[in-house]
Order: sequence, then C-alpha cells, then structure tokens
Amino acid sequence: PTLEYELLRRRIQTNIAEIWNFFSNELGKIRKQVDPNMKEDINSVLIMGAEHKRSLLSDMERLHQLDGYEAWRHQEAKDLSDLVQRRLRYLQNPPDCGKAKKLVCKLNKGCGYGCQLHHAVYCFIVAYATERTLILKSKGWRYHKGGWEEVFQPVSDSCLDIGPARANNWPGRPESQVVVLPIIDSLMPRPPYLPLAIPEDISFRLKRLHSEPIVWWVGQFLKYLLRPQKGTQEFLENSMAKLGWKKPIVGVHVRRTDKVGTEAAFHSIDEYMTHVEDYYLTQEINGTSMTRRIFLASDDARVIDEARKKYPQYEIIGDAEVARMAAVSTRYTDTGLNGIILDIHLLSISDYLVCTFSSQVCRVAYEIMQTLYPDAGHRFKSLDDIYYYGGQNQHNRQVVIPHKARNHDELHLKPGDLVGVAGNHWDGFSKGKNTRTNQVGLFPSFKVVDKVETAKLPTYPNV
Ligand code: GDP
Repeated sequence: PTLEYELLRRRIQTNIAEIWNFFSNELGKIRKQVDPNMKEDINSVLIMGAEHKRSLLSDMERLHQLDGYEAWRHQEAKDLSDLVQRRLRYLQNPPDCGKAKKLVCKLNKGCGYGCQLHHAVYCFIVAYATERTLILKSKGWRYHKGGWEEVFQPVSDSCLDIGPARANNWPGRPESQVVVLPIIDSLMPRPPYLPLAIPEDISFRLKRLHSEPIVWWVGQFLKYLLRPQKGTQEFLENSMAKLGWKKPIVGVHVRRTDKVGTEAAFHSIDEYMTHVEDYYLTQEINGTSMTRRIFLASDDARVIDEARKKYPQYEIIGDAEVARMAAVSTRYTDTGLNGIILDIHLLSISDYLVCTFSSQVCRVAYEIMQTLYPDAGHRFKSLDDIYYYGGQNQHNRQVVIPHKARNHDELHLKPGDLVGVAGNHWDGFSKGKNTRTNQVGLFPSFKVVDKVETAKLPTYPNV
C-alpha cells in the first residue's frame, strides 16, 4: 500500500471515534439544560448514535482485513522487528568486549517498575544511537536484590561489565570507552534522538506500517529487554493456568493508591466498564454474542471485589492478593515484582486495553502489545492522557484544516502550523500550543495530523 492510503485509512478510524466524542459530549451538555421530555429524546439519539459509531468502526476493521494488504502488513511487521532485534543483538554482543565502547545505565531510579523499565529503554535508545554496548547495572535493584539477570535474560551473552576501563560521565567524548548515563530528566545536553523520535533509516516503513511509530519503536526495546528467564517464564505460564486465562479478553488497569490526587484523578470502575462494554458491543455489532471477560489489574484490591459484585455478567480474571501486594510495592519495598511482571504481561496480551495512560504500568503494557500485532495502536482507551514517554521532546501535530477560534479558549489554526499537543480531552478537542502564534488553547482534534519526528541514527550496515 502507499503511505497515503495507510495514513488516510487510519485517520478515518481515529476520526470516527473523534466525531462521536464530539457529538456525545455536546449532547450530554445540552441534556443538562433541557426539560425532562427532551432529555428522553436526547438519550434516544445518543443510543442510536453510539450504535452507528460502532458500526462504522466495525466496518473500518473489516475494510482493513479485506483491502488486500493484510498479509503484507504481517510480513512487514515481522521484517522490521527482525531487523531491529538483529541490530540490538549485534550491538550487545561485540566481538571483543574488552575493547568495546560502553554505556552504563544504573537501574536505581527511585520509582516504580514501569518507570524503571522506561529508564532502561531510554538508556538502550542512547546506546543504540551512540553505538555503545548497554551495560545494565542492577545489583541491589529495588525490585530484585539479586539483579536483573535473575529475572530476565542478560542484555548480552558476553559483555556485562566495564572491566578496568575508566568511566566518564555523560556526554563524555567520542573516544571515551565508557560513558555513564544519568536519568533522562538530568540529561545535558539532550540529544535529538530521544523519544518521540524514530530512526530515519526505517522511518518511511514505520510510518506506513504503524499508527504510533514511537510506541512500536519503544516496544522493540522492551521485546529485547524482557526476554524472560526460565523461572519467570514458568511463573507466567503457571499463573495463567491458575487464573484461568482465556480470550477474548479486555485488559483493565485501575491505578489508585499513591497516584490518585497527586499525578492522576480518581476514576470509578464504572467509567472503565463503560468503555469495556463499548468494545464488546462493537465486536458484537452483527448480533453475535461473546463471553464478556476482563482481566482486571490494580494496586487497589477493593476494585476487584467491587467489580465482581457490580458486574456479575462479566467473567472477571484478576487476583486480589496480587493487588494487595501491589499497594505495598508502590511504597518502595522490594515485594511485588512477580505481581507486576504478571499483570503487565497479561495486560499486554489482552485484546484491548482500558486504563489511564498517566500510569507507566499501562503505557508499558501498550508498548509491549505493539510487538504482537502489525499495528495495535488503536487497541486502547485511556481515560486521561494520550500516549507519552516521560522526558520526551515536544510532541507536535501539524494542522491540515484551518480553524477560526469561536471563543477565547480556542486556537486559530492555519494549515501547516505546528501545534505542540498537551492532551486530548476526548470530547472532540485537544489542548496545545500553536508554535506560530505561541497561543495556548483548545482545537478540534480532527484538524491536525501527527508529525512523526525522525533522527539520523547509525544504520548498522553490518547486520
Ligand atoms: P505509575 O506510578 O502508575 O506511573 O507506574 P510505575 O510502574 O512507575 O509505579 C507504580 C508501581 O505500583 C508499579 O511498578 C507496581 O509496583 C505497583 N502497581 C501499580 N499498579 C499495579 C497493578 O495493577 N498490578 C501490580 N501488580 N502492581 C501495580
């Protein structure tokens, strides 16, 4: 397929959701202001409108299956992933470790597991960009004192130490043999290849294949990093058998405890379940019916009990004991590694995700999910943020349809303007800053397209 075709197809899919976000939200507002008999009329429009939206989304899914490019998408996804994985293996297994240039990354960032995985991925991206073998220092790791290698396969078969070489702090010099990387927030100077940039040499192929190329790119690093040790693999398999894992299934992640009120708002289980219901109704649009099943992960055990009581028509897979441990592990103790590995794994292999992207747990699951499909960019509903990578460079969208602000809250837009996006309000509007006018405000989400940043990176011609 051409790039234009794939972009257009995905744009229609996104904007079907956006037009419905817009109308349902506007009608919801009007409903509050009218008399009771009008409310009934509006409700009936909302119900029929929602069905109409689901039908369109379902048709888009079929178009995508039937347009003749599906076999190509699978092959291309495999080829691209194989290429990147080969490059990572090559980088990590230098012929002479004693002479190899190295980048040291310490897994001691004071934060949760998802945050630490993102720290490791950021290090790995810098390693890839500077052609330095990544040395992951993890002895005494908060989540497993014995270190990373006891849980996941080592990042190299032959090169896990800096040996007697002298270590220099970032950025070091090109000839420095060992450079030590700080956390992304303290990185100075900041290189252009940090997320959300993707490598230029595969950027055309990635943009054509995937709706969220950066998520795919991050997912590839996780694919390499998270190759489980035998014990971890067995633990995952046994746990799935015990839980009675089955598909179809929607993964729901409810992040509570220390996050609520500090970094994210509270969302009731009903909010999550509304989107789960909508997903199943879309799958069942032709009158088929399927078992309603969710996998529910949380750091609040009460959520699991509450969901079981409130949604008896759902088969709910989830372990309240794991959630109880999770609440403890958010308070910086080293319990709970198995629980969070399991929960992220199961969220990532679910058919669809309903969660808050303010949580790194769900973002990691979404990133890993991209390694399992040619493009799983649409398989989520976030109740708050759009996708982001902590410490990322500015996320820009390009205006394709002009807009005249209708009030003081809205932005003027001219085609070609770049807008730095802050978030999507999921009501038809996004918030951002027009970089031409420096104005900050709301704009209709359908009037822009994503601008994918690229960076010139090594092309690993020997691979
Ligand atoms: P964030 O704080 O949600 O952005 O994500 P982090 O991964 O950085 O930190 C949250 C930590 O809380 C996780 O690493 C887990 O230790 C724990 N946690 C949060 N949600 C869950 C969950 O659903 N299951 C489990 N097992 N642990 C969780």
